[in-house]
Amino acid sequence: MILDAETGQPYKDLFEILKDKNYYILTTNQDTQFTRVFPEEKISAIQGDWRYFQCSRRCHDELYDSVETLHKLNDSIDADLRVPSELIPRCPKCGAEMEPWVRSWVFLEGRKYREEHSKLNAFLKKNMHKKVLFLELGVGRMTPMFIQEPFWNMTYAWPNAFYITINPRDAIVPEELKQKGLAIREDIAKVLTDTRKISNEEMK
Ligand SMILES: [Zn+2]
Repeated sequence: MILDAETGQPYKDLFEILKDKNYYILTTNQDTQFTRVFPEEKISAIQGDWRYFQCSRRCHDELYDSVETLHKLNDSIDADLRVPSELIPRCPKCGAEMEPWVRSWVFLEGRKYREEHSKLNAFLKKNMHKKVLFLELGVGRMTPMFIQEPFWNMTYAWPNAFYITINPRDAIVPEELKQKGLAIREDIAKVLTDTRKISNEEMK
């Protein structure tokens, strides 16, 4: 369902807004929507990605393509909503069931996971002295530690950084960032469509 879901308009609008700029995407989304619109080398998916399997016992550090297997499994769901046992994907090394490579108690934080972080860190390091906008989209109150708090800290510490959060419910700018931040308490889809229209008109 996730792999076949339609790509959301906000991703397309965001791409149009960013495509000629020096940007980088940090996401905790696992639903692969970013990778359909943005180049893979400009995305760090730090909470995993549904396109991969890992061993549920983490017996070795390797990820496997899951897309074909998931489609096969989906096609084989019978009237009782079950799949044949022999189609359940198994680890080629230890035989344990495979698990989607997404944040869970057994989430594999191996080579690919570290790569996602080092890609992001390389971009940040290269650009930290430039004018930087940290644009936060839809981070909730449940997991502020992955995107929101690092964005706040970097905006605070870097002289030329600015922070914008767009969130219909939880748009917050901390007191310390009052001069360097903006909270837009609106629907992200609407803000991005409007921004895209305005920047198109300015180009004309
Ligand atoms: Zn295994």
